[in-house]
Amino acid sequence: PVVTRFAPSPTGYLHIGGARTALFNWLYARGRGGRFLLRIEDTDRARSTPEATAAILHGMEWLGLDHDGPIVSQFERAERHAEVAQEMLARGHAYKCFATQDEIAAFREQARAEGRSTLFQSPWRDADPASHPDAPFVIRLKAPRTGETVIDDQVQGRVVIGNDQLDDMICLRSDGSPTYMLAVVVDDHDMGVTHVIRGDDHLNNAARQMQVYAAMGWDVPVFAHIPLIHGPDGKKLSKRHGALGVEEYRAMGYPAAAMRNYLARLGWSHGDDEVFSDEQALAWFDLDGIGKGAARFDFKKLDHISGQHIAAMDDAALIAQLQDYLDAVGGRPLSAPEARAVAKAMPILKPGAKTLPQILDKARFLLVSRPIEKDEKAAAALDDVSRSILTQLTPQLQNASWDRDTLETVLNGFAEAQGTKFGKLAAPLRAALAGRAVTPSVFDMMLLLGRDESIARLEEAAV
Ligand code: GLU
Repeated sequence: PVVTRFAPSPTGYLHIGGARTALFNWLYARGRGGRFLLRIEDTDRARSTPEATAAILHGMEWLGLDHDGPIVSQFERAERHAEVAQEMLARGHAYKCFATQDEIAAFREQARAEGRSTLFQSPWRDADPASHPDAPFVIRLKAPRTGETVIDDQVQGRVVIGNDQLDDMICLRSDGSPTYMLAVVVDDHDMGVTHVIRGDDHLNNAARQMQVYAAMGWDVPVFAHIPLIHGPDGKKLSKRHGALGVEEYRAMGYPAAAMRNYLARLGWSHGDDEVFSDEQALAWFDLDGIGKGAARFDFKKLDHISGQHIAAMDDAALIAQLQDYLDAVGGRPLSAPEARAVAKAMPILKPGAKTLPQILDKARFLLVSRPIEKDEKAAAALDDVSRSILTQLTPQLQNASWDRDTLETVLNGFAEAQGTKFGKLAAPLRAALAGRAVTPSVFDMMLLLGRDESIARLEEAAV
């Protein structure tokens, strides 16, 4: 069975690259009946914070990326990592190195002067343990000096690294703490990880990690190193171009399902399919579909995908999304009657909306109550002439039957009697009904508000 994991370092929020890595691992495991594990790589005590861990968990929760089993803390497994270092030592795949910082620096300086590789070659590699001094030491991996380390990467292809490029890396520091490179391998092995899907900034680490697997005689997981995300201009992703935490996308009003869809498309493709459901993504996701080139973050595409998801959502789902958005921005949640009114208006709110706030913005006329606050343009539309026109209009609406045909007949007839076009009436009507110059159609608003509320708003504006 497939076991994947997401292994973030808790040094900041869940950024878009991390979210995509998590999603790929989640899709790969969930689409195959496998397990998706979560490990917090908190060995860097100075930079790891509980707030960052909370932010990462929150981001994953919002994206719906549920994980299996307990959250593993890498730091808490230090003893186990040390145990493995000792085991490598006992098997002769590692050695105690007593070289001091000064000695290492001197080695490098001399190598440089002689034009040799500056990779440190410890004199303790083959030393007789009987000759070991009683001094601090690190445990180094006895890496092969010749030959090659080959990574059969599912995305990058066959990656070959000459072993002369890799020094005997430190596995256990002199204070007994494990290095990151050792910890990752031990954790992935112990957690039973079968597929490591992560950013290609870790490709070089993979070569070193392979040497640890080899030293321990452990099965190597399948590696898939995915290209980083670039900005639309092909350059490194900047804040302006989308290098934000997933929470910020939530606060911009992209539904989580749309975000999942968009992130899945960032570097992965399935034919020409652009907009798809979770079910489709789960059925389709495969390592073969991951591109070799850097993906480009593109807000236009995100907007497009988001708009399609919004259009396809049913009212209940959309209301839930609106509440989630309001929660993200610290807004007041919709009351039950408001939610009902918005749901009823959905056929006019949904078309063209790319984000959730665009729906709320259109729905504003349903969410305000009298006295209707007017913005500057709306206030300007309600000049003396307009107000007197509204005063003459309201009595005619009093007895009209409240359906679209009748309202159209009444308003057009009224405009004609005034010697003007309906278009001229629209601005003061919008201002009166919604307090804004840009609103849904006057007829839609009147029908959704109902006779009493519509007339009350017109009367209020006419004064
Ligand atoms: N903790 C590493 C990171 O956040 C991930 C390491 C891995 O996936 O192996 O970049």
